[in-house]
Amino acid sequence: MANNIMEFRHVEKRFDDNVVLKDIDFTIEAGKFYTLLGPSGSGKTTILRLIAGFDQPTSGEIRFAGRRVNNVPANQRQVNTVFQDYALFPHMNVAENVAFGLQIRGVKKAEIERRVQEALKLVQLEGYGERAITAMSGGQRQRVAIARAIINKPQVLLLDEALSALDHKLRVNMQTELRQLQRQLGITFIFVTHDQEEALAMSDQIMIINDGTIQQSGTPVDIYDEPLNHFVADFIGESN
Ligand code: ADP
Repeated sequence: MANNIMEFRHVEKRFDDNVVLKDIDFTIEAGKFYTLLGPSGSGKTTILRLIAGFDQPTSGEIRFAGRRVNNVPANQRQVNTVFQDYALFPHMNVAENVAFGLQIRGVKKAEIERRVQEALKLVQLEGYGERAITAMSGGQRQRVAIARAIINKPQVLLLDEALSALDHKLRVNMQTELRQLQRQLGITFIFVTHDQEEALAMSDQIMIINDGTIQQSGTPVDIYDEPLNHFVADFIGESN
């Protein structure tokens, strides 16, 4: 049987009267690259926020390893997030940014140093530890944010429009790098994008969202070859 690490069961999310997620149901397997693909306002970020524990569903269940986690706080979930704007601390250098999550957990200095070096190597920033964040390019900042998010070895890494701020060429390079990193780490990545080409190029599994519902889930080939409805066919067929 597949190694399922997380499930949504009939998850609904409302903000006042506005139903933004309707009966969302899916299962996430360990060690795969998932993409949530959909237009702006379709509910992708809301799903990520529920997975991360930044917010709770209005009804339905979220389970990690079979256990209901609806009310488990973010810092008790094995999940980290890379945000579109990176959310780095500008007054700290690269190594201090990457170390932050370990420092607040009281990990010993030598251990922190070892793991920071390891994480920087994984994102190809070996030797950049002492640099100021303000001296790093957009692509390098993105890598720092990823190093910071993987340092405490989460089971799941969430990436919210993580490449959107980069120019086209860098973005294509980072797509390949992210995919390689995911394989190397062997953890689950859940990547959010509105860019269908990016989703098709990177994912093991794609979930297409529109208007708070999952329109289709499957491999890039399934979705490209056999779109289930007009929305999916049109959306996948559009180019940027
Ligand atoms: P996406 O990430 O696909 O662009 P979101 O998940 O950010 O979409 O938003 C889905 C819908 O939920 C939008 O209509 C948005 O306005 C609404 N929404 C998201 N967060 C809130 C909030 N905190 N309060 C009220 N409405 C929200």
